[in-house]
Amino acid sequence: MWVLSSVDEVGETDGWRCWLCDEPVDREMPSHDDRSASIDMRVTKKKAKKKQVDMGERLAHRGCNTGKGNNEAVVAWADHLFVVDPAVIIPSVARLKAKGGREAMARCPTLDDANEAGEWLVDRISRLEPGLGVEAKIEPGGGQFLVVLSATR
Ligand SMILES: [Zn+2]
Repeated sequence: MWVLSSVDEVGETDGWRCWLCDEPVDREMPSHDDRSASIDMRVTKKKAKKKQVDMGERLAHRGCNTGKGNNEAVVAWADHLFVVDPAVIIPSVARLKAKGGREAMARCPTLDDANEAGEWLVDRISRLEPGLGVEAKIEPGGGQFLVVLSATR
């Protein structure tokens, strides 16, 4: 029973949405189903001298859970975005959280594409890392548009 109530707690905190694929999680789904709710343990993968940093428990689909044989937590860019050289989202967000500053996230062929990608990132990160505030800036250059994220808190 402890496990069930714990999934409920993490589910409530994360709004019944999978932290990795950003899709809803159905709490009624039977537990053998890949779409059912599970708890993913977020730890940084660095084998540093410093101890592993526990980033807390997050709600994930059973099939998305990194503890179930998937090696590395990966947050995918949305398919509808037109981005070139997209950054890997989780490490970029971790750096913003740890050090603040700014991260170049992608280049886009048009200003519209860049604005859309920036808006998507800010929205996505609001659920991925609720304690981190970010804003997107678009910087034109070389005939393309660079999407840059800055930490605001
Ligand atoms: Zn998922």
